[in-house]
Parts: sequence; structure tokens; C-alpha cells
Amino acid sequence: MTTPDAIVVGAGPNGLAAAIAIARARRTVTVYEAQEAVGGGCRSEALTLPGFVHDVCSAVHPMAIASPFLRSLPLADHGLEWIEPPAMVAHPFDRDVRAALIERSLTETARDLGEDETAYRRLIGSVASAWPRLEETLLGPPRWPRHPLALARFGLKALQPASRLASQYFHGERARGLFAGIAAHAMLPLDRPPTGAIGLVLGSIAHTAGWPIPRGGAQRIADALASYLRSLGAEIVTNARVDAIEDLPPARAILCDLSPRPLLRIAGRLLPASYVRDLERYRYGMAAYKVDWALDGPIPWHDGRVARAGTVHLGGTLEEIAASEHDAWNGRASDRPFVLLAQPSLFDEMRAPRGKHVAWTYCHVPNGSTADMLPRIEQQIERFAPGFRDRILARHVLTPVDLERRNPNLVGGDIGMGVMDLRQTFLRPSWRWYRTPRRGLYICSASTPPGVGVHGMCGYFAAQCAIEDVLG
Ligand SMILES: Cc1cc2nc3c(=O)[nH]c(=O)nc-3n(C[C@H](O)[C@H](O)[C@H](O)COP(=O)(O)OP(=O)(O)OC[C@H]3O[C@@H](n4cnc5c(N)ncnc54)[C@H](O)[C@@H]3O)c2cc1C
Repeated sequence: MTTPDAIVVGAGPNGLAAAIAIARARRTVTVYEAQEAVGGGCRSEALTLPGFVHDVCSAVHPMAIASPFLRSLPLADHGLEWIEPPAMVAHPFDRDVRAALIERSLTETARDLGEDETAYRRLIGSVASAWPRLEETLLGPPRWPRHPLALARFGLKALQPASRLASQYFHGERARGLFAGIAAHAMLPLDRPPTGAIGLVLGSIAHTAGWPIPRGGAQRIADALASYLRSLGAEIVTNARVDAIEDLPPARAILCDLSPRPLLRIAGRLLPASYVRDLERYRYGMAAYKVDWALDGPIPWHDGRVARAGTVHLGGTLEEIAASEHDAWNGRASDRPFVLLAQPSLFDEMRAPRGKHVAWTYCHVPNGSTADMLPRIEQQIERFAPGFRDRILARHVLTPVDLERRNPNLVGGDIGMGVMDLRQTFLRPSWRWYRTPRRGLYICSASTPPGVGVHGMCGYFAAQCAIEDVLG
């Protein structure tokens, strides 16, 4: 083993981002990854049948395209190509209610919401136009903002729960349901803050940056990051699980792309008891139950406009989505789960053989749940796309237990690597954020600010700490 300046444990998007930031500071770095391929939550595999490319975890990437750090990297030169579907999000309804769509254009999106046109502009439009002044604060650790007024205006809305914002601003069920679907990405009950903030941020990014998919699958993002990292002279070692920090070669900095529980397993005995207790108190939240399908044709949506969107939110009204998230949070598997669906093969011919398609979904379930959600998820799709089941060629399920088995960061199947409530937005995973009390040991995963998503910002900020403390 060589002795680099820095070692990164884990080649998820944040581990790779951390390594890139260190390599760009002209320090040597080696990455150790337990799996056979890089990517962590950013992987693609032929999960069902040969020729069908499925995204194992992340599928749609608003946070990647909006990330100031990823934007600064020459990833196109390393094979990454973004595809922007004609519409960002579709939200179908029952009966004869037209689907609500988030277009890239704010004007078109608002206009289609009829009675809620002005309210949509006031709620989402105001955040979208302030986004350039907000992104630095919202996509990093808590710190004094460069634009306090813009942040204060955002905070007044963002600190309200999504269900209250939706009912206060919107009158129609289409706009209310649409906002609830975006806010449900928070993996919290919709009557809790900061679900409003998640709805506002993801909603406004749809208009400022888009909700794109990478051509060829999520793996292409990880592969581009790894290729750029190697071009900077760094080494990546796969099939290399780190069981104890002491087993690593000496290095001035060790950055762990790990959530607190797996971090404690490999480094707990080197850390002071008070910090260990802080990490033990870190809370993991609701889990995902994920299903991928190989299909004989496109999903036969009742409202054909839904086929224009890369992402589809299945859960109907604000009330139904709120009930589903409330159930998952309170230990019950919902009978009518809110389902997040991606249909990348409609826009990317690399995902399936000609004429065939893939579909990607998950719903939220209680942490560690063993409930069989497959029939309930298929029923939700069938509800908005009668005939869906007839198109299924093969399916692949990942339960919360399977997710954790693949990646120990996802404790109990929590794909967010820890609840993103107000407390853990600011104390993530402790008040020290990226630093641990042990000099030279850092956390660079989505269990640090700004949290979940493929954006690399956690890795970037952890690397800045290491450079400042020990690598400078
Ligand atoms: C089902 C699912 C769907 C998602 N959908 C989206 C989406 O559509 N859009 C989006 O932006 N985000 C999505 N996410 C979230 C996103 O994938 C994560 O937030 C992101 O991957 C976090 O990156 P990370 O680098 O912090 O950690 P990870 O991606 O978890 O990477 C950590 C890496 O460390 C490795 N590792 C762990 N332990 C060890 C060890 N002891 N030794 C060596 N290596 C180790 C793991 O194998 C892994 O490769 C989804 C996640 C899941 C699970």
C-alpha cells in the first residue's frame, strides 16, 4: 500500500467529491471502496434482464446539476451527458382531473395551474428568482449568509410545514397535490418543518436548473467523477472494505464517506466517549422500498401528458400523500403509499432494448420495515396507468434490509442517511459537522450538511476542513 496525504473511505458521490477537492489542492489521495464498482448511491446495474439498465439508487438529479462544486468539474470531458426530459415532474390525479406538470418554464407551469397561477409564482417563483443568492447558504454548512435578506424571506416560508404552505397558498387540489409530492422527498410527515423548505428548494430548482437524468444511467455520474479523479493522479481501490481505521496506511487525513453507525464500527474505539454518545444519538428515519421493472412498452398513462416527464409522483391529493408519509413515520406501512417513479428510457435509448422500457420506483416505509409493498406499489401505478401490469417482463425488489445489506450507510433502509428534521439539518451528525474530535479524521457523507442527494457538497466541505487543518 502507498502512503498518500489523504485517504477516503467510500467512493460514493461525496467520497469522490472529497477526493477530487483534495487532489485539486495538489495533495495525494487514495480512495478505498468496499463494492466492486464506484458510486455508492449512484450506481446502475442490469437488475432484471440483460440489456435493461436500472439505477440501483439515485435516478433523477436536480441536486447534481444545481451543485456549485459538481458544476465546477469538467465531467462532460469524462463522459457525463445530461438529458433534460420535456417536463420535470408529472403528478396525475384520479377521475377526470388533469395531471399537474412542472415544466422547466415557471410561466407555463403556473399558467397550467389555473386558479393557482399567481400563488405558484408567489411561492415557487420567488424562491426560483432568489436562488442564485440562496444556493451558497442552502447547499453548505450553517454559516452567516452573504445575502441575509434573501435568506430571511426564504426562511419565513421555508420554516413552515409543507401541508400548511400548500393549504395557505393554493386553492385547487392540483397545485396542492403537486407541492405535497415534491415536499414528500423530505421523508418526514408533511405537517413538520422543514418539509416546506424541501418543497420550495426542489420546486424552484426544477425551474432554475432542471431535474435531469444522465445518459446511460446514474453510474455515469460516478464513473465521470472517478475518471476525473484518476486524471488528477489519485488512486481508487475497489473491493476494499475498511474494517478498522487502524488497518489503513498512515495518512495525514482520513475522510469517511460513512453515516454515524458504520463510522462507529470502524473508528468508535478511537473517539472520545462523549462524541461516541452524540453519534449514537443520531437518528435514522423512514426507509425506502424500491422496485424496478423491465417493461414490454412505455407505461400506459391514463393522462398521456404524464409521458413528458422524467419523474412522476403517484399519490393524488395533498391529504392522501400526507397520510402516507404520516403512516411511514409512525411505524405503519401505508395501504396507498406515495410512490416516486422515474421513466428514463422514454428519453434515453441506452436504458433498454429498442421498444422496451424500464421503470424505477420507491415508496417510504417505516425504518427496517419487512412489509411487502410490491402489490401496493403496482396498484398505485395501475390506478393512474390501467394496463401497466400487462407490460411487465421482469421486476426486481430492494427492501429496506436489502438496501442496508448493499450499503451499511443506509441504516434500516434510510436512504437519507439520517432524519432531515430541523435538529439534524443543523446538527448533522453533531455540532462539529465534518470534523471529529480526533485530529485528521473527518466525515464526508450525506450525514453532514447539506445532507441527502447526489451533489458532492458534503465531500467538498469536508475536504476544505481537512485542507485547512492538516493538509495545507
Ligand atoms: C433507493 C435510493 C434512491 C435515491 N434516489 C435519489 C435520487 O433520485 N436523486 C438524488 O440526488 N439522490 C438520491 N438518493 C440519495 C443519494 O443516493 C445519496 O444521498 C448519495 O449517494 C449519498 O452519497 P454519499 O457519498 O454520502 O454516500 P454513499 O452513496 O452511501 O456512498 C458511500 C460509499 O461508501 C462505501 N462504503 C461503506 N462502508 C465502507 C467501508 N467500511 N469500507 C469501504 N467502503 C465503504 C459504500 O459501498 C458506498 O460506495 C437515493 C438513494 C437511494 C438509496
